[in-house]
Amino acid sequence: MKKYDYLVVGAGLFGAIFAHEAVKKGKKVLVIDKRPNVAGNIYTEEIEGINVHKYGAHIFHTNNKEVWNYITQFTEFNRYTNSPVANYNGELYSLPFNMYTFNKMWGVVTPEQAEAKIKSQREAAGITEPKNLEEQAISLVGTDIYEKLIKGYTQKQWGRPCTELPSFIIKRLPVRLTFDNNYFNALYQGIPMGGYTKLIENILENIEVRLNCDYLENRDELDKLADKIVYTGAIDAYFGFKYGALEYRSVRFETEVLDKPNFQGNAVVNYTDAETPFTRIIEHKFFEFGTQPKTVISREYSSEWKLGDEPYYPVNDEKNGELYAKYKALADEEKQVIFGGRLGEYKYYDMDKVIESALSLCKKQL
Ligand code: UDP
Repeated sequence: MKKYDYLVVGAGLFGAIFAHEAVKKGKKVLVIDKRPNVAGNIYTEEIEGINVHKYGAHIFHTNNKEVWNYITQFTEFNRYTNSPVANYNGELYSLPFNMYTFNKMWGVVTPEQAEAKIKSQREAAGITEPKNLEEQAISLVGTDIYEKLIKGYTQKQWGRPCTELPSFIIKRLPVRLTFDNNYFNALYQGIPMGGYTKLIENILENIEVRLNCDYLENRDELDKLADKIVYTGAIDAYFGFKYGALEYRSVRFETEVLDKPNFQGNAVVNYTDAETPFTRIIEHKFFEFGTQPKTVISREYSSEWKLGDEPYYPVNDEKNGELYAKYKALADEEKQVIFGGRLGEYKYYDMDKVIESALSLCKKQL
């Protein structure tokens, strides 16, 4: 008889939800995390009364009512709507690409005029079937927007030219012929009031959590504790990188407290030119309509991941897809271990998809 039914490796969103549901079903669960805190990459830390998104801005949005009802049982969400501003060498544009953007870019006033402009740029570029991100972007919004708002940002973000990136990345962004600066086409959107850390703490209420506990370093002892393991760390690290490391993009934040109430007037400003070294500046207070006398900003620098860095974005291109498939085949052989979450499944997951995936695992497992 082992002490626990499940050892959950990683106290992020996926692990916390699985643990919560398992305990609800009467299972004995231990959650561990190598960090000194719960919440994984949605961890928020209070500075000057402001919840700072330590591992990058997270804005919850979903079209799935079940997911929304599920997550809001743990905390109330505010009415934050993401509408980033793009700064291209001092010219400001509305995001996502919508009538405000088209009007500023071309002076067009009606949706028909905007559509005609995009169509003529698409035709001039001669793209019929987009094969990569550059072609996909031009065919969606034309060359001008591609050059000013997409090309530089994307190359900084991914460290690769747009011609070498898969087109699905850009399809995350809506294109609208309406005056609507809401970044997401989602029925439900908001930020958990009190921060994401509080949300995860609520999900993990009354569940045994061991922090500063690195699974891969204490594997032999930890494996003895539970019948099954839910592993939400990086899948390649689990297998000792035996086929080589999967590539990630990492992000570095330079966070600063400023002695003024308002630095940029918006939570997110993207710097879309190629020269500015950072991709965006986050002003955290505006996620929660903060009125504190000071403000906290983070400049976000994108970098290639190397061993020892925090992995953020999986690079879901062909080469890494093939490598992942090899690790996935090994993972399928590990009958006692379930791999889940963004790192365990090597997927560019939004938070709502993580919740869907965790709940679907719960249905199967529990
Ligand atoms: N993107 C862009 N310009 C922008 C914002 C986004 O070209 O101002 C592209 C870029 O390729 C990025 C993708 O759209 O990787 C997805 O952006 P999203 O904001 O969804 O990325 P995340 O918030 O997950 O970093």
